[in-house]
Amino acid sequence: MTAGNFIEDLIRNFCVMVTLMYLTWAVARSFFRTDPSRRYIVIIAMAIASGWVTILLGFTSGDLVFDLRFLPGIIVAMYARRPWVIAFVFTTIALARFYYGFDRPALNGFSIMTLIGIILAAVSPYVRRARWSDNTKIVFYATAAVTINSLSMLILQKQFFSVYIKEILPLQYISTIVLCIIAAVVFRDIENDHTKRASLADDAFKDPLTELHNRRHFQKHLELVKQQSKPVSIAYLDIDCFKGINDRFGHPAGDRVLQEVGMTVIQNIRRSDYCARLGGDEFVIVLIDCHPAHALQIADSVRRAIEEYDFSAVDVDLHVTVSIGVATADQIEDFLLQNADAALYRAKAAGRNRVIHTAIT
Ligand code: GH3
Ligand code: MG
Repeated sequence: MTAGNFIEDLIRNFCVMVTLMYLTWAVARSFFRTDPSRRYIVIIAMAIASGWVTILLGFTSGDLVFDLRFLPGIIVAMYARRPWVIAFVFTTIALARFYYGFDRPALNGFSIMTLIGIILAAVSPYVRRARWSDNTKIVFYATAAVTINSLSMLILQKQFFSVYIKEILPLQYISTIVLCIIAAVVFRDIENDHTKRASLADDAFKDPLTELHNRRHFQKHLELVKQQSKPVSIAYLDIDCFKGINDRFGHPAGDRVLQEVGMTVIQNIRRSDYCARLGGDEFVIVLIDCHPAHALQIADSVRRAIEEYDFSAVDVDLHVTVSIGVATADQIEDFLLQNADAALYRAKAAGRNRVIHTAIT
């Protein structure tokens, strides 16, 4: 094997691994969206798959197979939340060594890789806590992996040791360290890109002031609710005389009121219920599987909670009340929102600080 061949093989192997990282991530993103626990599983699957590919694409130097099998395990070591995951990834990658047959070198290769996984897993809690840069941690893991590998070769495969020392070891140190750093940069880039996209998508559906869902999210939510065909109630909430609050206490105080009202609504509805700020001082609550009397009861508990809420942190003279209009139907219909709005109008006209349900007088 010439140096040119060697470098060509090394680059080919590395490119396949990086491509695989991107592909797995693209698939994970479209299937699992932003679910972090599933994404974690995908990262592990991605590492194992790239480990297998590198072993299957492994290139030989004399009698020894050389590949980048430590690389995905080391990337996992940088991100794994639990040490056993590192040992699991190393061991599972090592299984691919049996592709070349169930002989002694294969068994040795498997055992060495497993041993490296266990040792890196054991030290990982300390490395994680160490005040080192990410690159220093990578250099540490890569050096440890290659060193454990060479010492194990000395014990288990003496016959290959001199070839290994001369032909592979220096290259293995350099390539593992350098390529691990490059792979980590690529991985971080994919991960940052994903996190940024997820947070942009989140922002597009969130009201920045109250952190509740916004009108755009509400429209999407209605589409989802439509598919459930369950009795549903909509409560339309509007703060009473909010213009006056702004005028008397100032716009920043008005903003605080909006935030506290939003929080109080969330605290007084069921976990399965939904709340969004539609804009201005208008909020909407969607109560699934909720009959008129129950919807009225929930809406009134929200109204009372706001009436009794202590706003003295904003201003000692501040008292806030809300009016709520509620409508119920067997499933979401376009008129439901209009009916709730009409009920709200009646609540305002009847003197504010009250709940009116279209079906209950
Ligand atoms: P009513 O009892 O009839 O609802 O009277 P109101 O004064 O509350 O009237 P309305 O609901 O029309 O007033 C909404 C006010 O909310 C008008 C606007 O200045 C104010 N507003 C809208 N968005 C914001 C905001 O983000 N922050 C603050 N502080 N005020 C806002
Ligand atoms: Mg209002």
